[in-house]
Amino acid sequence: MTERTFSIIKPDATRRNLTGKIIDRLETSGLRIVAQKRMWLSQKQAEGFYAVHKERPFFHDLVKFMTSGPVVVQVLEGANAVAKYREIMGATDPKKANPGTIRKDFAESIEANSVHGSDSAENAAIEIRYFFADTEVVG
Ligand code: ATP
Ligand code: MG
Repeated sequence: MTERTFSIIKPDATRRNLTGKIIDRLETSGLRIVAQKRMWLSQKQAEGFYAVHKERPFFHDLVKFMTSGPVVVQVLEGANAVAKYREIMGATDPKKANPGTIRKDFAESIEANSVHGSDSAENAAIEIRYFFADTEVVG
């Protein structure tokens, strides 16, 4: 089933000039980038995006990290895009990520883990709407 998911290339990856290497992984896996922009998240945008985690002990540091440099937000499209992208991202903690995954190969830590990916099609739709107008998603 063709579906869409939402992706962020996080500040640790933009800082190390890894956007091209990460995008290559996405495209090589068969996912298509149907929307993309580079931006610097405001504190409000980062807090809103990670609102589900606001009671977690790492929330403050996470917001600080996500606003520490530019990110690349993108919409990925393909067969089972949500699950496929989660698979190529690897586990949240790079120490636990499978070999060959983006987080295993590029992440610095459980916080600075290079990429975000939606965890369900429902959340993907919410996250896509948070960053993109319908006219900016061009399949
Ligand atoms: P993401 O939502 O960014 O794709 P995820 O779904 O694998 O990651 P979540 O549990 O949703 O993981 O956590 C969101 C983000 O919060 C993680 O990607 C990471 O940057 C940060 N994070 C999660 N757990 C921790 C932790 N224990 N310590 C520090 N940061 C954490
Ligand atoms: Mg998550």
